Amino acid sequence: MRDQRSVAKVAFVGLGAMGLPMAGHLVAAGFEVTGFDLSEEARRRFSSTGGSGSGEIATALWNADIVVTMLPNGKVVRDVLLGGENWRSLKKDALIIDMSSSAPADTKRLAKDLADKGIRLVDAPVSGGTKRAISGSLAIMVGGDAADVEQAEPLLTTMGDKIFKTGPVGSGHAMKAINNYVSGAGVVATMEGVLLGEKFGLEPSIIVDILNASSGRSNTSELKMKQFVLSETFNSGFALGLMAKDIRIASDLASELGINLKSLSTTVDVWEQATKVLGGNADHTEMVKYIAGRLSSGE
Ligand code: NAD
Repeated sequence: MRDQRSVAKVAFVGLGAMGLPMAGHLVAAGFEVTGFDLSEEARRRFSSTGGSGSGEIATALWNADIVVTMLPNGKVVRDVLLGGENWRSLKKDALIIDMSSSAPADTKRLAKDLADKGIRLVDAPVSGGTKRAISGSLAIMVGGDAADVEQAEPLLTTMGDKIFKTGPVGSGHAMKAINNYVSGAGVVATMEGVLLGEKFGLEPSIIVDILNASSGRSNTSELKMKQFVLSETFNSGFALGLMAKDIRIASDLASELGINLKSLSTTVDVWEQATKVLGGNADHTEMVKYIAGRLSSGE
């Protein structure tokens, strides 16, 4: 196989908290990357890391072999590619790698609509947050045709160190939604446990230490409670509204499959209510404020 770094022209769309460091890894690995984001500040930051930022989406996509998208959701991905006929800028037979956390139903529909135009798509969402985006050690779950996944792999391995092939197109996005449901339920349960213990008179940091040494430990107890919640920094880099969106995707998936999961219904409700109260741009670790607010109002 040819060394893709020397041949692939890559467009990277969405240079936010995750996209900026991810695109930076592609530049560092030798890919020719043109980045696009609606935010001028994001484009400027990308250019300052050695990438080439473009103020026009059509210019960024022009003659690209591969497009990586790291956008808020699949509807934005669809709009970027199909809106304004932007796809016409791409090379014939281009490959799209959607690394956003999109809904699998949207992804399957988009893959079909792109295939009608001769363009291929794999879904390759990630887990690990901004810290692992920066260190290039994301977990990546990739769905798509085997040959397309193989073409995506040299890029994926520069951004992540655990690459899972999940099956057909859409399966990576389904897996990502399932992961974030489990993670989001864990955030709520851990915060409720700490608030409950505090009400009893236990010391919050001791509660977290004991959870971390016991069967109640989780990603939230180990990597979020002291770092972002008890410290009150609330700067994990993952927005509350994005977590709510992911859990809604899992809930919609359950409905599409005709199953009723009680904890999932409760979890999506809590995250959507918290988004209404705190706003979607709040950090997701600020969920504790919503839970504490409900307790103090006697709900
Ligand atoms: P972000 O809000 O920091 O970045 C999104 C970027 O997309 C922004 O810079 C925004 O300007 C840009 N954008 C929006 N619409 C656009 C358009 N039409 N054209 C071009 N650019 C556009 O979000 P993020 O935290 O980087 O998340 C991106 C995706 O990754 C989301 O789907 C999210 O659910 C997922 N994700 C985030 C994390 C995390 O920890 N932040 C972890 C895993 C997955």
